[in-house]
Amino acid sequence: MPLLLQQIMYMERRMLLKRMALLGLAAAIPFKQTLSAAFFKSSKRPFHRFNLGELELTVITDGHISLSPVQPHFPNGNEAQEKELLRKSFRPTEAVDLGMNILLIKKGTELILLDTGTGGSFGPDSGWLLASLSDAGMEPAQITAIVISHAHPDHIGGLLSATGAFVFPNATIHMSAVEHAFWMAPQQDFSKSKFQDKKLLETFATAIRKVLTTIQPKLHLFQNNSILFNCLRMQLAPGHTPGHTITYVFSGKEEMVHIADLMHSDVLLFPHPEWGFDGDTDIQLAATTRKQVLAILAQTQTKVFGYHLPWPGIGHVRTQGEGYEWIAETYAFPG
Ligand SMILES: [Zn+2]
Repeated sequence: MPLLLQQIMYMERRMLLKRMALLGLAAAIPFKQTLSAAFFKSSKRPFHRFNLGELELTVITDGHISLSPVQPHFPNGNEAQEKELLRKSFRPTEAVDLGMNILLIKKGTELILLDTGTGGSFGPDSGWLLASLSDAGMEPAQITAIVISHAHPDHIGGLLSATGAFVFPNATIHMSAVEHAFWMAPQQDFSKSKFQDKKLLETFATAIRKVLTTIQPKLHLFQNNSILFNCLRMQLAPGHTPGHTITYVFSGKEEMVHIADLMHSDVLLFPHPEWGFDGDTDIQLAATTRKQVLAILAQTQTKVFGYHLPWPGIGHVRTQGEGYEWIAETYAFPG
């Protein structure tokens, strides 16, 4: 890549970080920051490994992002009700801490990564993907494919280094054609989003377009319901972004669905999927999709993996009154 472009990309990352920090988006009262950043610098990061049919699945962490205060992030909800729900669940009421769970799938000699984290563009509490990968015994050159759920910066941020170089040199990159078309258009329609700073969304869009342009030589676009690598079925779940995709991971009779950014809180959005998320591009469509997918997941009792749900993001969905609840999987021992 020409040096100038590298420099522009680097500068834009710095600028984005600064602007996000100013808005309280990046380092929004990261109440665990001091502890976690310091702790994880000197410690091995844990990973969670299990089998799904013939596949070996590993969950690693890219860190976490703290949303604080809770409003305006779940904008269709009532602040008092949201705080009450958090209190009843023994959670802090001043912030929702988003996990950054990254799924790795080993299928024979193929090693497939689902999303790539922030790449450090959201501050020191995330961007841990490479360190986590190393602690799980793998290195970037071993990754053969990367599947992107949608093109937000906390999912594509790890594709390129700060200087614009490919972090995973041997990997093909796969993304929804709908998602790609949305971000590559000269302008994006953010009129149905409840994100307060529309100017910042435009800055995001420019940065996203630059990344998508850079990765073009390695990029493969998929259509709705495509099967990739004979173990992934890609299903459009629009609203968070137009091409936001959930991934059915399957092997033999076993199945798990990676719901990507369908849910940004286990406590708030399962009982109240209509409360929405301010990061949704079309908040109404996202709520409709969220309700439809939750109904199916509860009915089919499918195992679920959530990118932003509490570590390691694995569980099931159950109906509860008029809404749903998240039943996290628990384990007798670490690993
Ligand atoms: Zn996300």
